[in-house]
Amino acid sequence: MAAAYKRILLKLSGEALMGDDAYGINQSVVSGIVADVAEVSRLGVEVGIVIGGGNIFRGMAGAASGMDRATADYMGMLATIMNAMALADAFRVAGVTARVQSALKCDQVVEPYIRGKAIRYLEEGRIVIFAAGTGNPFFTTDTAAALRGVEIGAEVVLKATKVDGIYTADPKKDPAATRYATVNFDEAISRNLQVMDATAFALCRDQKLPIKVFSIFKPGALRRVVMGEDEGTLVHI
Ligand code: UDP
Repeated sequence: MAAAYKRILLKLSGEALMGDDAYGINQSVVSGIVADVAEVSRLGVEVGIVIGGGNIFRGMAGAASGMDRATADYMGMLATIMNAMALADAFRVAGVTARVQSALKCDQVVEPYIRGKAIRYLEEGRIVIFAAGTGNPFFTTDTAAALRGVEIGAEVVLKATKVDGIYTADPKKDPAATRYATVNFDEAISRNLQVMDATAFALCRDQKLPIKVFSIFKPGALRRVVMGEDEGTLVHI
C-alpha cells in the first residue's frame, strides 16, 4: 500500500528529545525517533523536520527571569541548533543522511536555510532538519513548522506530542474523554482546542495546510499516520 503523503513536515518539540530526563537530550529517545523517521523515509516519503528548543532554553522563561526577551529568544533559537545537530548525528549513526539548515547564520556548524536547496535534498530522499525556528524573536518553532511546511510544499504538518491526538477533554482527568479523528479549523477554534500556537494555526489555515496531531512515543504511530490510517487527529479545512 502506498503512503498517503509524498512530503511531510514533522514538528518535534525540544521536550520530545529529553524523554523522562529533566532537561537536555536523551540519546535513546532520540534513536527511537530516528528509527521511526527512517522507516517512513524508506517508504519513499520526503521528510522535513522542524525541531524545538524547549528542552534547553525557552525565550519566555528567560524573559520571566528578567532577560531582554529578544536576547532570550535568540538563545532559544541557538538551542534548536544544538538539538538539530544531535538529531542529524543520530541519523548518521542510523545510516541515514540528514542535512541541517539554519535560519540563523552559523556557517562553521550548519548550512544556512536555502529553500531551493532544501527541496532538492528532499527530492534526493534526504531528511532536512530546519533549525533556528523562523530566525526571528517573538515567534515559536510551531510557527516555523507551519512556515517551512508551506514553503517546501508539504502536504501536512505532523505535530508530534505526548498525547495521541486532540481529545474532547483532558484524557488524564476525564476517563470519558474521546479522541477526535478529524476536526476542521473552524471547529478547532469554536471548541477552543489547542492545536498549535495562534500564529502557526492561522498560517496553516490560510494556506490550507492540514495539521495532524499524534504521539511520537506511541510505537508505530508515525508510520500509521503516514499510511493514512486512523491515528491521531487531523485538522483540516
Ligand atoms: N524561538 C524564536 N523564534 C522562532 C522559534 C523559536 O525566538 O522562530 C525561540 C523562543 O525563545 C522559543 C525557543 O526558541 O522559546 C525554543 O523554541 P520553542 O519554544 O518553540 O521550542 P519547543 O517548545 O518546540 O521545544
